[in-house]
Amino acid sequence: MERNILLTFDLEEFDLPLEFGCPISEEDQIKVTDNGLQRLSGLLLKYNIPATFFTTAFYANKNKKLIISLSENHEIASHSKSHSGFTETDLSGSKSELEKITGKEVYGFRMPRFRKIDKSIIKAAGYRYDSSINPTFIPGRYNNLFSRRKLYHDSKSRLIEIPLSVSPVIRFPLFWLSFKNIPLPLYIYMCKMAIRKDSYLHLYFHPWEFADLDHFKIPYYIKNPSGNAFSERFEILIAELRKTGEFSTISGFLGITVSP
Ligand SMILES: [Zn+2]
Repeated sequence: MERNILLTFDLEEFDLPLEFGCPISEEDQIKVTDNGLQRLSGLLLKYNIPATFFTTAFYANKNKKLIISLSENHEIASHSKSHSGFTETDLSGSKSELEKITGKEVYGFRMPRFRKIDKSIIKAAGYRYDSSINPTFIPGRYNNLFSRRKLYHDSKSRLIEIPLSVSPVIRFPLFWLSFKNIPLPLYIYMCKMAIRKDSYLHLYFHPWEFADLDHFKIPYYIKNPSGNAFSERFEILIAELRKTGEFSTISGFLGITVSP
């Protein structure tokens, strides 16, 4: 049986310090992401790995050439218009802006900060799949312990929902913060458990994690490791995962290839 590994990245302006009362200009938010993305895209190229980038239209408009070149090997999906603030029109607005830049159809959507959103409005904006659910419990953010943990067709909205991977049974989250904060062998072990159970693995990180974040006054568990140390850790992960399956974009995995 073919097993697929879906690496996904939220390609957004680095606005996270604002959440912790640490000011950062829009220009610097873009710069940090640029630096991280450069390192990340080099790694993906080195290992010939296709990935999915949930991109804010705000970031894409600042880096059109880069987004066009990314779209040659990777899937560009939407991460709304900007990372902060959301109105319903941002769904169709970000989709058409990204499509204008890349000349390719945008199929997927992921809500910034995984905020709750009505799936029928995502479908109405023309998307084919949603990836805004982490089916676990994150204190202070969300409790999705009772939502489905595997890929499914939402019959009400007629949208494909592809939740992030969590470990079997206890639903330990396998998102970016776990990757940073638990021993790497344990993280890899749980990824392998998930892929064995589900036959695919769906992970998410941010390009800005590949930039050096040491000087930002944000919590240690968020910024450590970053930059080089993060890249090295990520390379070990890739080497281990490639033994277990084939890397794919989400739309490739879902078999979405036909334009409407
Ligand atoms: Zn995000």
